[in-house]
Amino acid sequence: MKQSVAGRLKIAFDNSYARLPEGFFELRAPTPVEDPSLIKVNHALAEVLGLNPDDLETAQGVSLLAGNHVPESAAPLAMAYAGHQFGNFVPQLGDGRAILLGEIVGTDGIRRDIQLKGSGRTAFSRMGDGRAGVGPVLREYIVSEAMHALAIPTTRSLAAVRTGEAVMRERPMPGAVLTRVSQSHLRVGTFQYFAARGNTDALKVLTDYAIDRLFPEAAEADQPAAAFFERVLGGQATLIAKWMLAGFIHGVMNTDNTSIAGETIDYGPCAFMEAYHPGTVFSSIDRNGRYAFGNQPAIAHWNLVQLVQCLLPLLHSDPDKAIAQAQSMVDTYPDLFEQALAAEFRRKLGLATKESGDRDLGQGLLDLMAHKQADFTLTFRGLAELVGTGAPAQAKAGELFFKDPEVIEGWVERYQSRLERDPLSSEDRAARLRAVNPLYMPRNHLLEDVIRSAEDGADFEPFETLMSVLADPFTERAGLERFARPAKPEERVLQTFCGT
Ligand code: AMP
Ligand code: MG
Repeated sequence: MKQSVAGRLKIAFDNSYARLPEGFFELRAPTPVEDPSLIKVNHALAEVLGLNPDDLETAQGVSLLAGNHVPESAAPLAMAYAGHQFGNFVPQLGDGRAILLGEIVGTDGIRRDIQLKGSGRTAFSRMGDGRAGVGPVLREYIVSEAMHALAIPTTRSLAAVRTGEAVMRERPMPGAVLTRVSQSHLRVGTFQYFAARGNTDALKVLTDYAIDRLFPEAAEADQPAAAFFERVLGGQATLIAKWMLAGFIHGVMNTDNTSIAGETIDYGPCAFMEAYHPGTVFSSIDRNGRYAFGNQPAIAHWNLVQLVQCLLPLLHSDPDKAIAQAQSMVDTYPDLFEQALAAEFRRKLGLATKESGDRDLGQGLLDLMAHKQADFTLTFRGLAELVGTGAPAQAKAGELFFKDPEVIEGWVERYQSRLERDPLSSEDRAARLRAVNPLYMPRNHLLEDVIRSAEDGADFEPFETLMSVLADPFTERAGLERFARPAKPEERVLQTFCGT
């Protein structure tokens, strides 16, 4: 029996964004929902934030997470932003179904946004209802927390609640609200919003704010705006390299879904690939494959060009000089990305030393995987079996792949000769490989299962089970075989939907 009583929940929000000038947001409280009930509170994250998870599970806590109770210290608002959607510029998007309650400085000293997603209409809702269905909320909850477990920068999920209301999509769906946590919800599109209005003063304020909050050391640079951009660029290069070697497809890499903090944000029709192919697209709305898996590095580059264009007036008063500098900064991206990718390959291949051929070695594996339609996760997991002793019973797909004569004669020989020049015992290497190459992933058919149970039967057991499996994706446990294997042909998910 919980001891907490209503009225005990105290949250000390501090709202730096709300102190920015008018025009950066609309002050707007969440719209209360009919009958809030808890789906889940993320205890580990609550503790990082300095919140008592048990308090969040009380009636008052659930009321807060549903948007029905707004604490006194909160300053609820909808952020203004613009963005390129599938390459087309939209001068005003903004939080149409999300409300920033405020910021909390965690026990780790990091300031984070606490945002309710699905919390009602705002000035930016256009035709939308401001709400979210339970399916997309659970999808974002699961995938964002899985990304965190994989050490990939991401927004996180503090809680999910049911609203007791229906949302109208292709058919009526149970409504839900996600509490999303981020180091900042600033997007490339936030900068585009003011640039499109020719508001250089606001751009300066926004850039100073972003520097102060995310990259304080950039304030000391000769040109803080340039130092700021270089940090965002570095963050994107690292992030996308990690996506590429997790088999992650974001699905909607619009500039409004590109975080300045370098986090994965706005999980919509995202997916992890099973059979590897760089041309893979899951999103039902991505008809031309703009955001196909293999395009992601180039799209991030394009999005960074959009950001630096916004910053031109802050770089130099002479437009030609500003453009020249912007160009030279943007031109560093391909190399930085390649370096980040090579580092990520070394990690995934269990290499302790650096050689210039490592990037090629990794690429060679990917090419073979594409040729053989090998399972992305299990192939990398299978590397531990290849180098280690006492191969575990699981990860059969990886094992099969590495027993293929074409793979053995080509890539495995190259890998093994590279390992001879890398000073690790095979036991250490196998342990290292198992600590970075996950066995359990939120495969599409597993997500579908969770979502169907929640939507059709209000059954959240499958969600709880999957979350407990994904909390530790690296340690093989008995009885979890079905979470490790690829979809059977009849389970295969071919398309994912935004479901907004
Ligand atoms: P997203 O696809 O989540 O990146 O959203 C793109 C834009 O559409 C953002 O401005 C959202 O706030 C807005 N939007 C998406 N779904 C809804 C909805 N149900 N109601 C209002 N606005 C929405
Ligand atoms: Mg978005």
